[in-house]
Amino acid sequence: MKTKSSSSWSAAQSEELYGFKRWGAGHYSVDPEGFVQVNPRVEGRTVRLMDVINEARGMGLRAPMVVRFQDTLRHRVVQLNEMFKQAIREEGYKGDYRGVFPIKVNQLREVVDEVIAAGKDYAYGLEAGSKPELVIALAMHEGTQRLIICNGYKDLDYIRLALLGRKLGKRIIIVVEQLSELQDIIRLSLETGVKPMIGFRLKLQTRGEGKWALSSGENAKFGLNTAEILFACEQLREAKLGQCLRLIHFHIGSQVPNIITIKNAVIEATRFYCQLERMGFPMGYLDVGGGLGVDYDGSRTNFESSMNYSMGEYARDVVHNIHEICKASGVKEPDIVSESGRAVVAVHSMLVLEVFERINKRESLGQQHQPEVKHKVVTDLEIMLKNKAKLGRLERFHDAVQKKEEALSLFNLGYLDLENRAAAEQLFWQICEQIVKEGNDHGYQPEELHELNRLLADQYVCNFSVFQSLIDHWALKQLFPIAPLHRLKERPSVNAILVDITCDSDGKISNFIDLQDTKDYLNVHPLNGKPYFLGIFLTGAYQDIMGDLHNLFGRVNEVHVFLEDDEPNGFYIEEALSGSRIADVIEGVQYQQEELCRRMKAQIDTATRKDMVKPREGVRLLELYESVMQSKTYLDIDRKPQRERS
Ligand SMILES: *Cc1c(COP(=O)(O)O)cnc(C)c1O
Repeated sequence: MKTKSSSSWSAAQSEELYGFKRWGAGHYSVDPEGFVQVNPRVEGRTVRLMDVINEARGMGLRAPMVVRFQDTLRHRVVQLNEMFKQAIREEGYKGDYRGVFPIKVNQLREVVDEVIAAGKDYAYGLEAGSKPELVIALAMHEGTQRLIICNGYKDLDYIRLALLGRKLGKRIIIVVEQLSELQDIIRLSLETGVKPMIGFRLKLQTRGEGKWALSSGENAKFGLNTAEILFACEQLREAKLGQCLRLIHFHIGSQVPNIITIKNAVIEATRFYCQLERMGFPMGYLDVGGGLGVDYDGSRTNFESSMNYSMGEYARDVVHNIHEICKASGVKEPDIVSESGRAVVAVHSMLVLEVFERINKRESLGQQHQPEVKHKVVTDLEIMLKNKAKLGRLERFHDAVQKKEEALSLFNLGYLDLENRAAAEQLFWQICEQIVKEGNDHGYQPEELHELNRLLADQYVCNFSVFQSLIDHWALKQLFPIAPLHRLKERPSVNAILVDITCDSDGKISNFIDLQDTKDYLNVHPLNGKPYFLGIFLTGAYQDIMGDLHNLFGRVNEVHVFLEDDEPNGFYIEEALSGSRIADVIEGVQYQQEELCRRMKAQIDTATRKDMVKPREGVRLLELYESVMQSKTYLDIDRKPQRERS
């Protein structure tokens, strides 16, 4: 649906409309030419995303595509560590900050490599939540100062691996999540003679907030309650391993929107820490887990896709509350560990989509149908369309809905022919469009009419799968900022929702960020026959790995961008990962490509013998089948003429 169009529009207005400055943490803006630019280090060199897309295209990589900015990743690691260092300095705190990166948030080799390199001067460590992650952490970890924190459910091999790390002199801490794990740790330690470093995960009373609140509180699946902590302490002492207790840990859930929750949890955990220290355990580390949020909608509120605090405030509050309580309890201040994942990696990557088709509800119903004999229900609707000024908008809407339902009943009873039904539907949507247009000039919208905006929004079909690339939006309704990557000097005069290419009605995005609450549509530009690109931003945390193979689309293309002053556009692409081919994904579900080709050949041969296809044609058909099998899973838009469906 097009809203009022006017020629005057600027790149600055687009920057404001899409909120780049609000959610972009200083990394995103719109240049005067109307292109989205990335500023990986916040200061200095910027890169136009369209330049990256064009360069990737030259390497044979198309959208859908993940674009990673390695410099942004580095910047975030440094920023987190510097924020804590600064808070510690300002507070006069005696302990250090010893952050760890939780591998589960983005396990990709290049991401973990970059995080480790960026954290060198800060002794920034790693967190593992499973055996496979610990396998990565042990080998990638460097030096003796950095921590490895072992969370998650543990079997004997998990514990053996951790003890192996200890034997190599690593600061590796096994966090006990369940009492039964402690038995295993004690037993294996006595067997091998390796003294582990042990932590306890607390089940705090302080409840998280937001979508991941269930990670905490009394019914959380992880952690020890107070009685279990006391029991665990006794068991350690009995095994003469009391000196191994070095850390307590809590994690109140990811994306905590409200800083008050964090303060409360830190206070509660620090009380535990001080009591354990005073019971004579060596301690030394207090681990505040993850939860540091990302302001996905840029509203700075405690809305679940936002956060009402900054990274700096988070660091200051954590340090300050621990300091106060330790001072009051006369306990030596611990080194502070945090396991922030989302806040470190979310901002560094984005998903680039190409729109290839527009579906408009009214236009898709075709030209005004003129039945030879008009049914009364059709003429009634025609009158409604003409006499628009007579009644209020809401009343007209109700009348139109009534007539449309009448038309449907008549059709079902056999009294309305196809021509008249088409005309009735067409008129109904025309009336709706008229009502909405008037609304845009008036300001206030009653609830029912608001819904109309959504119904009338165009559908922009994008070459991607929500299930593969934006799983938290599908599963948890988490919002991500979305914006066109170019043409931002033009007024985005179309309201659209985005639909993907899976055969699933859930495969769509129809809820968007807005300063007030959320929005039912995205402002986009009319398609003009040229490629049109959208970016979904802040997708660096969790989305890459959690995607599934719905409809067998599989991984998208990916490029890793590095800043480089000597390059013409200020960057180069160091690594380009090609997305899944059809042969890859079908083998993942146990089909062998050779066997499928053999079966096709047999069928084509039979058809040739029966003279259904000519021999030469048969060869071509088999070639077609084999070459498609080696191609990518997503649509090849270049070979598909772009069109506006009407
Ligand atoms: C998931 C998880 C994290 C990371 O949380 P973020 O909110 O992404 O920072 C940290 N610690 C534990 C134990 C986790 O399960």
